Amino acid sequence: MPRKALQVCPTPGCPNLTPQGRCPGCQAQARAERPTSHSRGYDRRWLRASAAYLQDHPYCECDDCAPLPPLQRDLATEVDHIDGLGPLGPRGYDPANWQAMSKAHHSRKTARDTFGH
Ligand SMILES: [Zn+2]
Ligand SMILES: [Zn+2]
Repeated sequence: MPRKALQVCPTPGCPNLTPQGRCPGCQAQARAERPTSHSRGYDRRWLRASAAYLQDHPYCECDDCAPLPPLQRDLATEVDHIDGLGPLGPRGYDPANWQAMSKAHHSRKTARDTFGH
């Protein structure tokens, strides 16, 4: 069997051939239909506010990193909402509700919040 056999796009009714998964057109459409981070409040205003916060809080402030000296922590790249409600929550723009985090530690915390209870 040739390695890159084309198959019909799995989207019902779509006749396009594609090497794997959905054809590019259907992929783009699936992306467009998914709720974007923008609709959850992660818009330009939030990006500006969180970027400013990260300048003052360059190191990860997660529970695991907090006890470590700054140089042993991960560099923070995102701002987490301690209340878990995001920028649209009542404290979405309250810096006391923010925590600078590295991407890896942020996903770890999100996973714990989701599965840990
Ligand atoms: Zn398709
Ligand atoms: Zn951390």
